[in-house]
Amino acid sequence: MFKAGIHSTILILSLLLILSGPAAFAGESKTIEVLKNVFTTIDGDGVDSNTTFIITTEGVIVIDTRPTPAEARKVLAEIRKRTDLPIVYTINTHYHGDHTFGNQVFKDSKTIIAHKNVRNTLINSGQDHLSLFKTFKIPGMDEVEVTPPNVTYEKEMEIWLGGYRLQLLYHGKGHTDGDTIIYIDQLRTIISGDLIFNEKIPYMGDAYIDEWIESLNYMELLKNETVIPGHGAIGGRPTVIAMKHYLINLKGLVLEQLNNNKSLKETQEAVAPILREKYKSWKKLEWIEGNIERAWLEYSTKQKT
Ligand SMILES: [Zn+2]
Repeated sequence: MFKAGIHSTILILSLLLILSGPAAFAGESKTIEVLKNVFTTIDGDGVDSNTTFIITTEGVIVIDTRPTPAEARKVLAEIRKRTDLPIVYTINTHYHGDHTFGNQVFKDSKTIIAHKNVRNTLINSGQDHLSLFKTFKIPGMDEVEVTPPNVTYEKEMEIWLGGYRLQLLYHGKGHTDGDTIIYIDQLRTIISGDLIFNEKIPYMGDAYIDEWIESLNYMELLKNETVIPGHGAIGGRPTVIAMKHYLINLKGLVLEQLNNNKSLKETQEAVAPILREKYKSWKKLEWIEGNIERAWLEYSTKQKT
């Protein structure tokens, strides 16, 4: 199951409702050169989670591995078109299957890095998470062997390779309880994982909204000329701000309802049309009700304590 502290059944049902079948994502993957030596693979068969690879003089760093080995092998083929150097490090920004279920393809690197909570979650409930993903009918899911990270950190770590320094920063809970922000100071670049969905309503099934906003505040302070999100097109500083404003809007609107003792259903009825109108150009508007539910649960629990 998704590692959810509360109402896991509701969250799973929400997820089933909101993660539509492969038709929603069907397409060929594309690899784009974001900056010199920094490439991001976007789209694909049953997927729209981004994978980034950095080619250095000493080898390759891969960030997130797509939802299936088949899609991960397409990334590997893109790497091999450009270099024969080994994959030295693989990093998972968080545990969700659309970012980790291609890990086995990069296992030879011997080093898969993530926040310690990612390893714990994949070890303790990775099989359940895989079973859940199998219900989405993404092509190639049967081949997945849950492959947890084998190098973990708690607050911060640095990777030095071929003249690049990657800072892996954990700023607390957010999209999940184990999100890594990857910061490359010299490139003024952030690889945000799912702390940022660009022009797409975020998935919030096991999110922590207040802490997520804090992580985005923190990202705003970093040099953020280029921001590679977990989903959606490459952006920059406005992308960070747009995601933050979505969460602040969601929080504010839901709190207003909670302060008037409104039920979840009443809150959804009042808030969803406002968010749907305001974010009508974003993808996955059908996820808004789930987000309201997540916010309602988070803030109704906080109000009681
Ligand atoms: Zn995610």
